[in-house]
Amino acid sequence: MDLKYKRRNVYEESDGKQLGEIYDYAEGYKKFLDASKTERDAAHAAKALAEERGYKPFSFSEKLSPGDKRYFINRHKNVFLIKVGTEDVGKEGVRIMVAHVDSPRLDLKPNPMYEESGLCYFKTHYYGGVKKYQWTAIPLALHGVVMLPGGERMEVCVGEDDSDPVFYITDLLPHLGGEQSAKPMGKAVDGESLNAVIGGLPCVDENEEDKEAVKTAVLNLLNKKYGLTEVDLQCSELCLVPAGKARDVGFDRSLISAYGHDDKVCAYPEMCAVFESENSPHTLIAVFADKEEVGSDGTTGMQSRVISDVIDTVAASFGANPIEVRYNSKCISADVTAGYDPAYASVYEKRNSTYVHCGAAVSKYTGARGKSSTNDAPAEFAGWVRDVFDGEGVFWQTGELGAVDAGGGGTVAKYIANLGIDTIDVGVPVLSMHAPYELISKADVWSLYRACLAFCK
Ligand code: MN
Ligand code: MN
Repeated sequence: MDLKYKRRNVYEESDGKQLGEIYDYAEGYKKFLDASKTERDAAHAAKALAEERGYKPFSFSEKLSPGDKRYFINRHKNVFLIKVGTEDVGKEGVRIMVAHVDSPRLDLKPNPMYEESGLCYFKTHYYGGVKKYQWTAIPLALHGVVMLPGGERMEVCVGEDDSDPVFYITDLLPHLGGEQSAKPMGKAVDGESLNAVIGGLPCVDENEEDKEAVKTAVLNLLNKKYGLTEVDLQCSELCLVPAGKARDVGFDRSLISAYGHDDKVCAYPEMCAVFESENSPHTLIAVFADKEEVGSDGTTGMQSRVISDVIDTVAASFGANPIEVRYNSKCISADVTAGYDPAYASVYEKRNSTYVHCGAAVSKYTGARGKSSTNDAPAEFAGWVRDVFDGEGVFWQTGELGAVDAGGGGTVAKYIANLGIDTIDVGVPVLSMHAPYELISKADVWSLYRACLAFCK
């Protein structure tokens, strides 16, 4: 019996076979990540993978039976995967795993286009918690959708293929940046200066003087390619995200740098676990939420009643009381947490931090200012989760997001818990969270996958 707790490093305890499993798993994750830069992209990718595995579209008015596999894509941005099990949903509830698939980025404003000094730009409004200075001077790709009059949907993705152009927000050269450098970091780059260069070639028409000849030329290109005019951008969702793919980090390739680990690094393991738990007696529901980064509101966020509606549909299928189903359900709310970063040690508390390579990160509670605004998983449920993870040899650790009063953060856990469902936060420690390129350990995404499998078993 170990009297003392010691945090375990997954890599230290991995033989060649396990290391091979961890690295193989990372390849699948990187592929999903590259296809899932926005919540719309992620929903699209998840739907394709579900269909490959025989999942069929879900309907609120259907009667589900054991063995049924369903997907529900809520308004293109919020995914539900449902695998119906054999056990009594009234007595046992359902097993829910939630993650979010939106990530911080720069959205285009409703009237984004303008021309200035020979260049054409898109004006942006940042989405989620970004350090604005990090979004200048890097290649950006444009993802999203534009609605044309009459309901035609144009999907846009420019900047991901090697032959594509990218977009670019300028920064000030250091030679003239003395005043800027003296500002507090949060004020160095203004939100209204996050304008992306989208063109520079003027349209020359000898018969007409055009004061916005570059903008005219860009609109011509957009009209040719997508059939859109400037006003159509008012009915669009277009986002600028870092261009490029996930990359291995380190000579040993033990980590991955990519845009949007938060929170696709949790969505992917949950999805894999549902797919690989076809024979589980439990009814499994995986939810990939939108809008987590901006408060989880709206039809596609976790504060929406849609999750309750899905649970009610499951309950109704078996004549179970939906209140009982919720009360007996269990949920893993999977989101990233701040991994201990020795470069910024002062904002962490070493003994209660989570560390890269040390496995799935369990957070009994999140919150800020005296544990405010959090689901705090009951000890009884935390103990149940420990037994489930330990029973399957899952590498897991526990900690808080930073030192007391250093800041804090929240997840969607509280919205599920508020429905009367036992919920705990489990995730992956991330370094440089919310930066254009975040860093995670391959050992940790694999550990979360193992944790999700144990939860589904
Ligand atoms: Mn998150
Ligand atoms: Mn986040």
